[in-house]
Amino acid sequence: MDGPSGSGKSSASKGVAAALGLRYLDTGAMYRAMTWWMLHNGVPVEDPGAVAARALEPALESGTDPAAPTITVDGEDVSGPIRSREVTNAVSAVSSVPAVRARLVALQREIIGIGGIVVEGRDIGTVVAPDAQVKVYLTASEEVRARRRAQDPAADPGASVTLTRAEQARRDRLDSTRAASPLAKAADAHEIDSTGLGLGEVIEAVVRLAKE
Ligand code: C5P
Repeated sequence: MDGPSGSGKSSASKGVAAALGLRYLDTGAMYRAMTWWMLHNGVPVEDPGAVAARALEPALESGTDPAAPTITVDGEDVSGPIRSREVTNAVSAVSSVPAVRARLVALQREIIGIGGIVVEGRDIGTVVAPDAQVKVYLTASEEVRARRRAQDPAADPGASVTLTRAEQARRDRLDSTRAASPLAKAADAHEIDSTGLGLGEVIEAVVRLAKE
């Protein structure tokens, strides 16, 4: 499941995985954890060479239970810190570095293995798992996406809708225009616009596609 920030991918992916008894992987959390580690270690995140030079250092582990997804870096649970505004505003720079993407895509493919998993991100249908059984590209209007993100207690704590909207637009622009596997809809993905849909309706629509 791919789509821009705030499209509802996380809730929908977890819901679909739970409904179908599948595992779940949040690839955005992996890019956030890498970014957290770079910031934590004083790496200048706007310098692609400096980021690339250290991209192999952090040990990342992702739990795949949709009811309790976890992410650790060097054994430390970073589920909370990776949602900070500092990480959110730096993650596009780090994720545009090819060495970071090469490492994380390899890790993601290892976790995906033979399948039985719902994976959310930006390049899953196009790059990470081009043979996925079902591909969904989830969208929503910019206004609704900013509202959802500002109301999400796990995301950008304390940010107003206006600020969230501006920062989100910047992140989506960077994510869709970078040279290395940008946010994109796979040619064979089903596009779902969740602007006027409730979470249950999105989950139902994806479950229906998976059962077809
Ligand atoms: O989904 P989430 O908002 O947590 O993703 C954080 C960031 O990670 C995105 O803005 C993007 O820069 C990066 N990302 C990516 N490729 C993915 C998933 C996330 O580049 N597959």
